[in-house]
Amino acid sequence: AKRTGGNRACFFNEIERDSRSHERIRLEAELKRALLADEITIAFQPKIDCATLRVVGAEVLARWDHPERGLLAPGCFIDVAEESDLITRLGDRVLELACRQGRVWLDHGQRLPLAVNVSIRQLEKPGFTARVLDILEITGFPAELLQLEVTETVAMGDPERISEAAKPLLEAGITFAIDDFGTGYSSLAHLQRLPFNTFKIDRSFISGLADDHHSRSIVQTILAMAKSLNYEVVAEGVETEEQHAFLAENGCTTAQGFLFARPMPAEHFEAWSKAFLMDGNHPRLAVGAQP
Ligand code: C2E
Ligand code: MG
Ligand code: MG
Ligand code: MG
Repeated sequence: AKRTGGNRACFFNEIERDSRSHERIRLEAELKRALLADEITIAFQPKIDCATLRVVGAEVLARWDHPERGLLAPGCFIDVAEESDLITRLGDRVLELACRQGRVWLDHGQRLPLAVNVSIRQLEKPGFTARVLDILEITGFPAELLQLEVTETVAMGDPERISEAAKPLLEAGITFAIDDFGTGYSSLAHLQRLPFNTFKIDRSFISGLADDHHSRSIVQTILAMAKSLNYEVVAEGVETEEQHAFLAENGCTTAQGFLFARPMPAEHFEAWSKAFLMDGNHPRLAVGAQP
């Protein structure tokens, strides 16, 4: 349940990672059914320009709209999907839903970049690249508005293979972000050979900003490194004005977190962004303001 990222109830918290327990098998079957029944949906969380407070994009997050258990966060089902082949189908579904919605917004005059999470398991499977390009073509969503977020893990085993798979995607204009940056064990030499242009600073460092000088130093170091590598940086999990002020003062370009908005369904996103824009100068979020 490490990745629930919220306070939603999870009905299989207790499942051990590697056990082929009864529960896990049941969940796998249910997920299979959910995919056929169109119960997998997506939520959007805005990404905000730290300095101007403009909405500069959104992250797409998978949700399972379970008929009995309500809306479930990915912490409840991504692990199981990753360990079976279901992650491919789930990932395709999420990407297609995202691109379709992105296209609708584009047709309404809002050119919103979208970041979609992909697991390393998906990236490494043959056919991934072709399917991403297919989905872009079918939905008519521009490749240059799509970013793929890959969580930093030890599993980034074979940079050559990943780079090779990513090449046609990069050529099409898709960008790649390293998610949860700072929590994995990948070496910088290793990361350097991968096709990323964005760091997403893990929430754990952001939540430490207020009272942990190590967190502050780590965040400043990531920002400095990003600057000299010409990477973009998104701070995840920004919950307080104080955190936002620190990030803005230290040159972080983009922030995402409950301070601005929780992940929400597409039909709320439009209204939310209008209200956020119309809120004018956002005195509540003024950089350097006292808490
Ligand atoms: P992530 O990609 O790092 O996404 C950020 C998570 O942090 C989201 O949780 C989001 O709701 C949560 N979050 C955002 N702002 C705040 C904040 O201010 N405070 C707190 N406490 N949490 C915040 P969510 O939606 O539960 O997703 C959890 C993880 O599941 C994601 O982490 C991502 O690794 C994975 N995931 C989500 N959707 C997909 C998907 O479509 N495919 C794959 N492969 N993984 C996905
Ligand atoms: Mg992410
Ligand atoms: Mg993550
Ligand atoms: Mg993350």
